[in-house]
Amino acid sequence: GLPKIYFVTPTYPRREQAAELTRLGQTLMHVPDIHWIVADDNQSCNAMVAKLLKKFGIPFTHISSPMPEVYRKANIVPRGVANRRAAINWIRKNAQHGVIYFGDDDNTFDLKLFEEIRDTKKVSMFPVGLIGDYAVSSPILKEGKVIGFFDSWPSKRKFPVDMAGFAVNVEFLLHPNATMPYKAGYEEDQFLRSLGLALEDIEPKADSCTQILVWHTQTSKKVSPTIRIGSELDTSLKD
Ligand code: UDP
Ligand code: MN
Repeated sequence: GLPKIYFVTPTYPRREQAAELTRLGQTLMHVPDIHWIVADDNQSCNAMVAKLLKKFGIPFTHISSPMPEVYRKANIVPRGVANRRAAINWIRKNAQHGVIYFGDDDNTFDLKLFEEIRDTKKVSMFPVGLIGDYAVSSPILKEGKVIGFFDSWPSKRKFPVDMAGFAVNVEFLLHPNATMPYKAGYEEDQFLRSLGLALEDIEPKADSCTQILVWHTQTSKKVSPTIRIGSELDTSLKD
């Protein structure tokens, strides 16, 4: 069979959640040999999410791992880290082969992406659309090899890439030091460094990084009226 893709989705409770997971689940229904790891940023597995996941008929594992309180209070919160770390641990315990990919619940995936990443030997990389000021983040290639990165926010990172811009072979993930840090903005870079990744090892995908097969889409969030006490909206509701 095909190498399995472990598709890791951190998710958290908010009013947009069911819509995001429905769209994503219906994308993944088109992908063969996939195992969806839905990692809930919640005290326990959300019943609504559990019910939703069963509808798609795809193999999944639902785990919960809430963000520790100390990070929730930070200025810039490390979004989706506790739950991705739990998913990494699950894979290290339960999988021997295959490919891991971090697919956020709000991103948009071209089905071609799955064909591209499936034969990842160590770490593959490819462009991500709709991200940052430059609107695209991508490895830069010369003669088929990655020689640098184009990204709106390099910030002295060795691998200035987005979470959606790479896939990792499960055997490569078994590196003893593999970890994702609770450090907003540096999760990707430090995770890839923890794997002992060298620039020469990177496998460029998406037609030598000329195609966009994943977009960092974001759903606009509406603030719930119940938390707008004293606001204009609150006043108008009373009228
Ligand atoms: N996320 C989470 N807990 C949070 C905030 C976000 O698990 O408190 C998840 C979210 O569902 C998504 C990923 O982490 O899959 C990245 O979050 P988000 O899309 O909000 O970040 P952005 O794309 O804006 O950087
Ligand atoms: Mn997002």
